[in-house]
Amino acid sequence: MAIQHELSWSASRAGTFQSCPRKYYLDYYGSWLGWQQGGDPARRQAWVLKKMTRMPMLAGQIVHEAIEEWFIAKREGRAQPSRPEFIDGAVQRLRDDYQVSKQGKWRRRPAKMCHLAEHHYQEERIDEASGAAGTYGAQYKERIIASLEAFLDMPELAPAREADPSTWLACEDMTTFDFQGTRVFAIPDFAYRAEDGSVHIWDWKTGTPRAADEFQLQVYAGYAREKWNADPERVVGFDAYLPTREIVRVEPGAAGMDAALGRIAESIKEMTAVHFNADREDGDPDKFPMIEQGSECSSCNYRELCDRT
Ligand code: SF4
Repeated sequence: MAIQHELSWSASRAGTFQSCPRKYYLDYYGSWLGWQQGGDPARRQAWVLKKMTRMPMLAGQIVHEAIEEWFIAKREGRAQPSRPEFIDGAVQRLRDDYQVSKQGKWRRRPAKMCHLAEHHYQEERIDEASGAAGTYGAQYKERIIASLEAFLDMPELAPAREADPSTWLACEDMTTFDFQGTRVFAIPDFAYRAEDGSVHIWDWKTGTPRAADEFQLQVYAGYAREKWNADPERVVGFDAYLPTREIVRVEPGAAGMDAALGRIAESIKEMTAVHFNADREDGDPDKFPMIEQGSECSSCNYRELCDRT
């Protein structure tokens, strides 16, 4: 059965709604059905742009997938990768994906293969003649190495690394819960029930702390209460900023979870006010205005649609 267009909620969708209404429109409406061959060319173009990534996001994705594979090997009783395999494999993936993007191989499968906005917009930072590309790429190679070394070595992460698979509650699983009739997406990186019965939720971070990070953990905590029947006072969230080896611990309790759900309700209300069914119509992009040109635009996938290249 074909997937139906619907209004769902996630922390990233809410963040986009706040940062630029036009980007929100293009992400969730203007690119809808763009994956269909022979469909509306405007939707196709928006969808191809939506599927692009950037080096910081690619590095983060590679770290998440390497850690996920590490845990899955453990769960399945397979040999886990050696330290060099774990780290070198991730760095090689960065190199391979960079080449896929540079050589335009992504055109064969835009949804699956790496297409970097840095290449698409021929940004100066990936200029090879000047040496800028080498410096830029090395930055993300080092970020991957630092993140994976931290995952393996930090004593604070030992309870997560050593948790028995029988206690695991989530490992990068795409999951949803219903909130007042709207599907809410929550993807905890890793969660398990600790020996004292409390629920520990981990979020691996490869960037610097953002104000939205704590809110994200509160949403996961609400999910833990909803899905795993967790006692709100016994849910602990951890943001692990791997490159800098910092850990931020959040214990939202019932009050924090209710506050997060209140924010979600408010956000859904704002989104509902402009929602339309993109299966049936294109809507009016002017109802989703562009923001003033600034730093948000300089790294946005949709620059060519907004004439901000
Ligand atoms: S280029 Fe700027 S105005 Fe256009 S969608 Fe992106 S952030 Fe919004």
